[in-house]
Amino acid sequence: MDQNSIHPSLLQRKIIHFDMDAFYAAVEVKHDPSLRGKALVIGGSPQSRAVVCTASYEARKFGVRSAMSCAQAARLCPEAIFLRPDFEKYSAASQAIHEVFQRFTPVIEPLSLDEAYLDVTDHAGGLYASKIARQIQEAIQDELQLSGSAGVAPNKLIAKIASDMHKPQGLTIVTPPQVLRFMEYLPLRRLHGIGPASEKRLLELGLVRCGDVWSWSEAQLEAALGQMGAWLYERSRGIDLRPVEVARERKSLGKEDTFAEDISDWGRLEEELVRLSEEVAEALERKGLRGRTIVLKVKYADFQRCTRSHSVSEATADRVVIEGIARQLLRMTEAGTRKIRLLGVSVSGLEECAETETVISLDLYRRRQHASKLLS
Ligand SMILES: [Mg+2]
Repeated sequence: MDQNSIHPSLLQRKIIHFDMDAFYAAVEVKHDPSLRGKALVIGGSPQSRAVVCTASYEARKFGVRSAMSCAQAARLCPEAIFLRPDFEKYSAASQAIHEVFQRFTPVIEPLSLDEAYLDVTDHAGGLYASKIARQIQEAIQDELQLSGSAGVAPNKLIAKIASDMHKPQGLTIVTPPQVLRFMEYLPLRRLHGIGPASEKRLLELGLVRCGDVWSWSEAQLEAALGQMGAWLYERSRGIDLRPVEVARERKSLGKEDTFAEDISDWGRLEEELVRLSEEVAEALERKGLRGRTIVLKVKYADFQRCTRSHSVSEATADRVVIEGIARQLLRMTEAGTRKIRLLGVSVSGLEECAETETVISLDLYRRRQHASKLLS
């Protein structure tokens, strides 16, 4: 192939893949600076069957890795501090990070709490994409005391591989003329989508690195690998036409309230539940949505949480149905005997209402009956 030609798709977009460094561990350090510099493992007790979600770089030096058992992590690094993950903390931090992203572009596709693609093609404001990536890193460092690594490239495939190359606090830029050189020696297993089974098959064909694929025609690859052939033909050359997809509309809608004082009185809890259900139903109606699963969230005075949910066969936005189910779900908690500091009602499994659909009107009593029957 002509090494000097640049595939036209590589000249069209500027993509940043941003990936936080040891995110859960970093958030824990931020909340408790005495943990800084320590070998930290987020997962669970080494005596439990928990696995490692994230290890700080200090723990990684001992060979601790994500997805290994906490027991093994403790054997590798006896001085490690083990913490249980606190996803409320992490999602709050994630939201703050996304607020930084939003200053630069609205075209953001989150992959997880700590990873996202950003398309800055039309939102660069005259800045180079690499400059934007650097400014995001700096803002996240200065304002949130967290660090992240970025890959800047003409597409998602290369941006994601690039962000991982110089962690932590890395910034790796691959410009269109550099794409082929970047891909040539890249092991095929680094392509997202090639697992151990595919890797073995490729190895049998003598294919180890992306550049090894280049001498094969698309037809040859398809003959040898089936559907994967065409995919590999493009990916091995650093071609990826997938757009950055802005997060779809939320999948659940809910309201929750932390009370000024913890509540143990059943009547008061029911009042709160009625109010929350009403608010949720109104919000659903405003947005033209309805959902199948009603979720009740309870946080007790000691911060222990529990959720109870129930799904109905037909999506609903009906206040009375939501309220009736929420009330039944409340009976499945320790409400009334334990003090409660927070109640939340949400509806998930959302779908848009068909415009022509008419609301079936039942009288209040029958709808209440209906709601409680759904649970019995
Ligand atoms: Mg990460």
